[in-house]
Amino acid sequence: MEKVNRQRLQSLLEQFASFGATGENGVTRLSLSREDIAARDKFIEVSEEIGMSVKVDDMGNLYATLSGKKDMPPIVMGSHLDSVKKGGRFDGTLGVVAGLEVVRTIVERNIETEHPITVMNFTNEEGARFDPAMMSSGVLAGKFAKEDMLLSADTEGVTFGQALEISGYEGEAGNRLREAAAFVELHIEQGPVLEHTGEEIGVVQGVMGMTCCEISLKGESNHAGTTPIPMRKDPMFAAAQVIVDLQRELKKLPEDLVYTIGRIQAHPNIHTVIPNEVTFTLEARHTSMDVVRQVERIIDRLPKTLERCEVTSRKLWGRETVEFDGAVVNAVSETAAELGLRTRNMYSGAGHDAQFIASYIPTAMIFVPSAKGYSHREDEYTSYEDCAQGADVLLNTVLKLDRNASTQEEKVLEEKSV
Ligand SMILES: [Zn+2]
Repeated sequence: MEKVNRQRLQSLLEQFASFGATGENGVTRLSLSREDIAARDKFIEVSEEIGMSVKVDDMGNLYATLSGKKDMPPIVMGSHLDSVKKGGRFDGTLGVVAGLEVVRTIVERNIETEHPITVMNFTNEEGARFDPAMMSSGVLAGKFAKEDMLLSADTEGVTFGQALEISGYEGEAGNRLREAAAFVELHIEQGPVLEHTGEEIGVVQGVMGMTCCEISLKGESNHAGTTPIPMRKDPMFAAAQVIVDLQRELKKLPEDLVYTIGRIQAHPNIHTVIPNEVTFTLEARHTSMDVVRQVERIIDRLPKTLERCEVTSRKLWGRETVEFDGAVVNAVSETAAELGLRTRNMYSGAGHDAQFIASYIPTAMIFVPSAKGYSHREDEYTSYEDCAQGADVLLNTVLKLDRNASTQEEKVLEEKSV
């Protein structure tokens, strides 16, 4: 088994953490900002130093490729260099930087792969500057229309299209990722499970399905001091009842269902006024779409009136569970075991570029532990040894996939010649 160079990986992660450094260990590196452009320039500098050639597609996605012995579809690693405001230094960056270290190790050991090996940086994964998240992998996979994405504007009114043009990172549509033997994304878990169980590597089976609904309660605004309680139509107390009822029903579903009321708005939101409307979101995630549908049925079955208020609900959006490719997942699982690492099979509750790429390329992900499960905050932390172990799994998975795919292709050729 090959191992990556610990010091070199840590040093490169630290160098990338300097682009948009917040001073509190975190980074603010919004997509296509000055800081993001500096990180992209660094990516190209390091890639070329290793001997890779770099291409850019029309969404600003970067591809650094080391050629293989044969001219065939590449094996691809990658993640994203952009961050949320005051985010962590590992989220996304680890998958890109580890990819570079993996290729550097391959070159250093004179390992000749059959396939070209590509490291990718996806543009605007976080969606923190331009909505939606996973914008560019979504365009590659045909989930989002590029024309719509170009018009998505940040809080200053700058559109994605303008930012892309100014950045100098607008490349050719012909460079887009089309065919690949496999795609593997190494990422921090962004949850507390691996740390809690003491396991070192998460073998990610797929991404959980989810539903996001909005529930509205309509009453009547009036003076908070002069309206007797029996004469009110107060949607706030009705909302409180609905929330408690929802929790009671949701607790009856499998205990690994996760659900969140993350946004609640009262109108007019003045302390001397009885609100006339309260609206809140309920989102729920589970690997089984049956369970997700049950959540939707619970919401559909809410009473139409409560406390003399009108109750309505609508689904804002959802996604089906994405199952990763069995062969690539197995390659990750076997590799981690061969390296003597403790593994856990798990689904990602968070969205990743890999979930879109999985729609047309055999895909899997590798998770490493997140201290306390923190992410999207400056004190997000994964030990450098955990990062290196993830990179070891990535390296040996890529080498295994290279061998497996080559023997398969030889078999096909043999069969053809027979
Ligand atoms: Zn990420």
